[in-house]
Amino acid sequence: MMKLVYSLLLFSFFAPLALADDLPDLGDASATVLSPLDEKKIADQIMRSVMSSEEVLYDPEITDYIQNLGMRLASNGPDKTQWFNFFVVKDNSINAFAMPGGVVGVHTGLIVAASNESELAGVMGHEIGHVVQHHMARMMAQQKNDSLISLAGMALAILSARANPQLASAAMTASSAGSVQKQLDYTRDHEREADRVGISILESAGYDTHAMASFFETMQKGTRYVEGSAPTFLRTHPITSERIADVSARIANSKYRMVPYSPDFDLVRAKILAISGIANQAVSLFQSNIQDRRYTSESAQHYGLAVAMLRLGNVDGATKELSWIRANAPSHPFFASLAANIEVARDNPTQAAKAYQAGLAIYPGSRALIYGYAEHFLRIRQPQQALQLLNEKQSLYPTDAYMYELKSKAYAALGKNLLSHQAQGEAYFRRYNNPKALEQMDLAVRSGDGDFYQQSIVEARLKELRALVDEPKKSGWFK
Ligand SMILES: [Zn+2]
Repeated sequence: MMKLVYSLLLFSFFAPLALADDLPDLGDASATVLSPLDEKKIADQIMRSVMSSEEVLYDPEITDYIQNLGMRLASNGPDKTQWFNFFVVKDNSINAFAMPGGVVGVHTGLIVAASNESELAGVMGHEIGHVVQHHMARMMAQQKNDSLISLAGMALAILSARANPQLASAAMTASSAGSVQKQLDYTRDHEREADRVGISILESAGYDTHAMASFFETMQKGTRYVEGSAPTFLRTHPITSERIADVSARIANSKYRMVPYSPDFDLVRAKILAISGIANQAVSLFQSNIQDRRYTSESAQHYGLAVAMLRLGNVDGATKELSWIRANAPSHPFFASLAANIEVARDNPTQAAKAYQAGLAIYPGSRALIYGYAEHFLRIRQPQQALQLLNEKQSLYPTDAYMYELKSKAYAALGKNLLSHQAQGEAYFRRYNNPKALEQMDLAVRSGDGDFYQQSIVEARLKELRALVDEPKKSGWFK
């Protein structure tokens, strides 16, 4: 955790020196709102930090859940052309935050504290509201900063502040950026507007709008859900009595809506509890929840218990929980990847391969199964098989960086240098790191072990990447 905060703070405070060549001079930024293109450029800068951040949780199941939920909500929002990227931050505090250009972070603590998917959707809808109303961009533009460097830097300061308020604010107070946090806290009008958009998103996405009000209560009860959690959402999006009255008035006439139950929320919540904190404590938590019948979904408790047991190397215990799940719950992609993970932990490649095949037959798009099966092939030294699988699945996830990294490893195992560097370059490109992508593509071009076609492809790609890296140096986006 410390590491990211420091790197972000360094990035945001010292960025003007380090990035002076990479970023354009935007000239007079006294315009009240940034153009969509400028917002997207800032978002790309932020994503570059997000993609390399240790604070960010990259679990394919949890990430896909949040991204799918976020996209579903955004598609029910007022601006369907807005770009979004949702990610999960490993942080126990109850919070979510939006940055310019549609980058939205959701703390694990928020997911754990929400009682149901509607409550989580309410907070995410609120953040989407800040994005589509361009609150952050407006505030930033008002700061009359004359370059994109400071705009992106400020956004990153916010990311670090949200991820670790104590540490970041202590560091920020001691610097000239100390006032940034304060300046960028939302105003009451912004909060009201975001609530309004959030409620209308809940409504049209088929959620219970009363969840908005019930989550306010959840947050005010605060810390009882997660040890050491603080409802920082209250600080960054203050809930005033005025705001509660406003939300209550808006939802007063809407009926309670029964939202069809989906197990995904409970499973994601259980998985977060199972993989964070101390494994032994997670095991005890699930065991006592099951014993005291304290749950919305019993199978999610057994699932969480199995995941936590696997962390401790208790393969037999996890197997027993999986058997309970198989006997009592409908099938689910999470259970399929759990089954495969158990065989991997048992160090039984034959059974693991069977489990991956069985899982992918039912859930061909499960990213966890695809990753796991490809890693399995690499582990048992069958890189060709890994490549076949990845080539087959890649069209489902064209922006996925990790699949390219796996391909790069597979090519390296086969001694194919051009293809390995090319794949690694494509991975960096998808991590928003164009300079590193360029570096790898250059290595690919110079590796000299490709055929004529492979050589022409990497040469063309090198040219494209060079143009992308050079582009920001030219001024005039604003014109
Ligand atoms: Zn807010």
